[in-house]
Amino acid sequence: MPEFRQDPVIGRWVIISVERARRPGNFIDPVNRRRRDDDQECDLCVKPDNPVYTLGDICVVRSRQSSSTPGQQTSSGQNGLYEVIKDAGIHETVIEMPEHVSNMADLSVGRISKIVQTYVARFDEIEQNTRLTHALIYKNYGLSQFAHHACSHIMAMPVASLEITEKLSGARQYFKDHKRCVYCDLVEREIRDKKRIVVETDDFLAVIPFAARFLFEIWIIPRKHHADFAQGIRGHEEDLAKILKIVLQKIKNGLDDTAYSWVIQTAPFRRQDASSPRPEVPRGEGAFGQRPGGSLREEPVGARGKWRTIDVDYHWHMELIPRLTRMAGFEKGSGFYICAIPPEEMAEYLRDKEI
Ligand SMILES: [Zn+2]
Ligand SMILES: [Zn+2]
Repeated sequence: MPEFRQDPVIGRWVIISVERARRPGNFIDPVNRRRRDDDQECDLCVKPDNPVYTLGDICVVRSRQSSSTPGQQTSSGQNGLYEVIKDAGIHETVIEMPEHVSNMADLSVGRISKIVQTYVARFDEIEQNTRLTHALIYKNYGLSQFAHHACSHIMAMPVASLEITEKLSGARQYFKDHKRCVYCDLVEREIRDKKRIVVETDDFLAVIPFAARFLFEIWIIPRKHHADFAQGIRGHEEDLAKILKIVLQKIKNGLDDTAYSWVIQTAPFRRQDASSPRPEVPRGEGAFGQRPGGSLREEPVGARGKWRTIDVDYHWHMELIPRLTRMAGFEKGSGFYICAIPPEEMAEYLRDKEI
């Protein structure tokens, strides 16, 4: 019988279809296999003329469509139901290597660590643009419509994504109910259960989530509680680089160098506002690092007030999805996902994979 599992953060139900029981190793979708043309040159092999940021030979370029001036005027309007925000948003590409290497799995830990530092530097600058609300860092590897040159992207927007809004709402509700961060609890539970852990380092866990939507979906979660990637990662850049490289190598070697995407899920920007002070993160030391344990203050109304509790109830993390399956009509239409291999089997398969 299939098993229904619920994501503890947003409450989404996933169907683990154990009857279909495809064995790990027998799930490659040939449509999404990357093209093997990586020794060819591409546009990103050419040194950019006007990078907005460099760290050694790592270059960041801004897309021409970006609203490039911090604080630049944006126009917005509402026409009945339909709200519009024009001329806002920034897209930057982080060119991770001058040479044409395609997979981040093949970069050194030292270089990946510098790439992480680059993200932080860009976040520090982008956050100064008060028009912007939320920024995502993401990577698409091996998808045929994108260049096969190691690069990642920073997308900063005037609005928060539906995905992060759902997570924030779920995490806030969990904190209201339990007076604890749901992700801190998840880390603690995964360490106890062990069976969904792919790899762990001093500062991070890589797990197949209990209610995985996709084959070999992996979350990389910091043990230390912090809502914001750019602040939480400081001092842990090298450890994130280490676990990310191990995970990417396991995907490369264990899943036939499949295409994948990852995204860093971090809280929206919260700029200091004297009229709406942020709550302090309680400093209770749990077995697995700092964990919020205080109670919520009374919630004010309004958008800024709505985000006052993020520091205690949200916890940044990475989500990585190998492109092994395409969404079927059922998933698109119903919002239910069907995962054909139990998460515990997927984790065991990757855990045992040599790198
Ligand atoms: Zn190239
Ligand atoms: Zn937490």
